[in-house]
Amino acid sequence: MAILRFHALKQTLNRVPVFIEEKERRSSIFGAHVFNENNMRQYLTKSAYNEVMDAINKGSKIDRLVADHISNAMKEWAISKGATHYTHWFQPLTGATAEKHDAFFETLGDGMAIEKFEGGALVQQEPDASSFPNGGIRNTFEARGYTAWDPTSPAFIYGTTLCIPTVFVSYTGEALDYKTPLLRALQAVDTAAVAVCKYFDKNVKKVNASLGWEQEYFLIDKALVASRPDIVLTGRTMLGHSPAKGQQLDDHYFGTIPNRAMSFMRDLEHECMLLGIPVKTRHNEVAPNQFELAPIFEEANLAVDHNSLLMDLMEKIAERHNFKVLFHEKPFAGVNGSGKHNNWSLSTDTGVNLLGPGKTPMSNLQFLTFFINTIKAVKEHEELLRAAIASASNDHRLGANEAPPAIISVFIGQQLSSVLEELQNVTSGKLSPEEKTELKLNVVGKIPEILLDNTDRNRTSPFAFTGNKFEFRAVGSKANCANPMTVLNTILAKQLIDFKDEVDALIDKKDMKKDDAIFNVLRDYIKKSKSILFEGNGYSEDWEKEAKKRGLSNNKTTPEALKVRVSKSNLKLFEDLGVMNTKEAVARYEIEMEDYVHRIQIEARVLGDIARNHVVPTAVKYQNILIENVKGLKEVFGANFKTVGKEQLAIIEEISQRIEGINSNVTKMIETRKAVNRESDLEKKALGYCNKVKPFFDDIRYHCDKLELLVDDELWPLTKYRELLFTK
Ligand code: ADP
Ligand code: MG
Repeated sequence: MAILRFHALKQTLNRVPVFIEEKERRSSIFGAHVFNENNMRQYLTKSAYNEVMDAINKGSKIDRLVADHISNAMKEWAISKGATHYTHWFQPLTGATAEKHDAFFETLGDGMAIEKFEGGALVQQEPDASSFPNGGIRNTFEARGYTAWDPTSPAFIYGTTLCIPTVFVSYTGEALDYKTPLLRALQAVDTAAVAVCKYFDKNVKKVNASLGWEQEYFLIDKALVASRPDIVLTGRTMLGHSPAKGQQLDDHYFGTIPNRAMSFMRDLEHECMLLGIPVKTRHNEVAPNQFELAPIFEEANLAVDHNSLLMDLMEKIAERHNFKVLFHEKPFAGVNGSGKHNNWSLSTDTGVNLLGPGKTPMSNLQFLTFFINTIKAVKEHEELLRAAIASASNDHRLGANEAPPAIISVFIGQQLSSVLEELQNVTSGKLSPEEKTELKLNVVGKIPEILLDNTDRNRTSPFAFTGNKFEFRAVGSKANCANPMTVLNTILAKQLIDFKDEVDALIDKKDMKKDDAIFNVLRDYIKKSKSILFEGNGYSEDWEKEAKKRGLSNNKTTPEALKVRVSKSNLKLFEDLGVMNTKEAVARYEIEMEDYVHRIQIEARVLGDIARNHVVPTAVKYQNILIENVKGLKEVFGANFKTVGKEQLAIIEEISQRIEGINSNVTKMIETRKAVNRESDLEKKALGYCNKVKPFFDDIRYHCDKLELLVDDELWPLTKYRELLFTK
């Protein structure tokens, strides 16, 4: 098998970049494959167009007859673009996207056929979805689930298929996907934020959450990936010694993008343009062969769909360029992992970014209201946010090179810290006119529109305010953004409802003026939320100690982190806000715990297999060569062979020790796995995999990596780190 490594390297070294020609301006092809407002205007009657727009903007229902007209128009448009099939496109809890294609084509008998797509097929479908994860909501014998059209995310053509974004719910109405709870959370935050906005502007009718994700990924030649069973099966390397050169020279970040990677990016961006994904930024990331892609931010639901679509698209396009995209959060030990920063803000239908400082004291008071409420929401629900980004793969990244730690904290920068400091000292109760004027002029009024330290460049803060948005950085590169976005918007909705209650109570019962009441509640919130604010280096031991003192959670592993999803208060939170009922929340928890167990289980098997079937036999082969050598030395040198062959003898011995280390640990790991598998309680099982099985990985890897340094390079079967990371 050693041949596979060299064969792969040879293939890789002979690659030439795929030539990509961009004939048209990007702005002229943007959204060409999307049934967007522009295309709808052309294909729909005015009244049908208005109905769709009302459904998008006000959530109103679309009449069945109108749906027939829309579906027909969609079909005509799609066929004109070369589509032959349609599908309901959804995001089941596997993390991937799902689609089942049906042809427009239908026969009429008598040898005649037509293309058809009726309103019913647009609005709702019943895929046999018994094999998607459902956490016990749906027994396989009643396998029916519905997909239902989400008109807020426009239909698009992908390849030759018209894709209709849909939600996926069980026959009994429980959400089986990522989108349903997200839409509910966005609804909740909309309602709660509009109510608070009314203090400042009566004209606000809708508040939208925005999301701009930054997708990090590795690009590795597909032949090299195919030569590594660990990457193929788990998405990451489970062993491999660090190369002499890693990222210590900082020579990759923002460096020249290698030619093949550049061709891939241009090809990808072209497809993104057609699909209406507004990608804008591309650059090298910190680790070798690591890159980032970011779009212009969009309404959160659409942004989530676009990220899911993008990840799928990236895999397909990479294939054309002989690459594999690694979305895993930590594909290589010792160099940076990949995240997916979620830049998030709220904006009104009157065009105001609620998290952007404004020009007047009043608009700044509105900004501070949303800013401080967000901080308070994070403070109250830090564990839930940690749970929202928990996965087996993200566990490797949190707390490692440049990634945020498992402790959730908020970075706000020097300028805003001092504003909060001042606000905290305002008088309790009614404010004197002088104090109020002073506050408005010199504190609130002085917040500059552009903050000097609006970016946290140390990159270790999991949740940082960056000028006009918060950046949730702890999200993993592989994650579906819907999960963190659902939680973030839900906790803010809850916080804003509480805020409004408290302010109203002061106005009604204490006879306070509106701004007095707002200042009072905000002052109180600042005091209560202080412990979540942290400006320092996120991965120092000092911070871990300090965070503990402050009472912040530090759940380092997924099974520990996920528990809070099913705590009484959190079940109630989701239920009260109409985001998830208890059955749905518990199901999700179970799916995620099971996913964790399965992933560690697969990793354990893969590592055991590679260690025993690739590494040990290679080591034995090399040891035999050395033994032959020593025998020869004995023939030549007689009794003196021990002196002459001293080094060889030492290596022979070390190889035996390493082999012993590997074999005994693999055996113990298998025994432990068997014992953990017998555990019927899901939580105990997940904890068992985490705390009992996973620790063997490090020991086994250690011995394997040591052998990699000893054994003849010509014999080593596994493509090495230097080859994976530095072959372009
Ligand atoms: P960086 O963090 O690399 O310095 P930026 O902060 O400028 O880059 O932008 C990163 C992402 O944040 C982009 O996707 C961008 O569209 C998004 N973004 C910018 N402003 C907002 C906002 N108000 N709300 C949500 N996302 C935003
Ligand atoms: Mg950013």
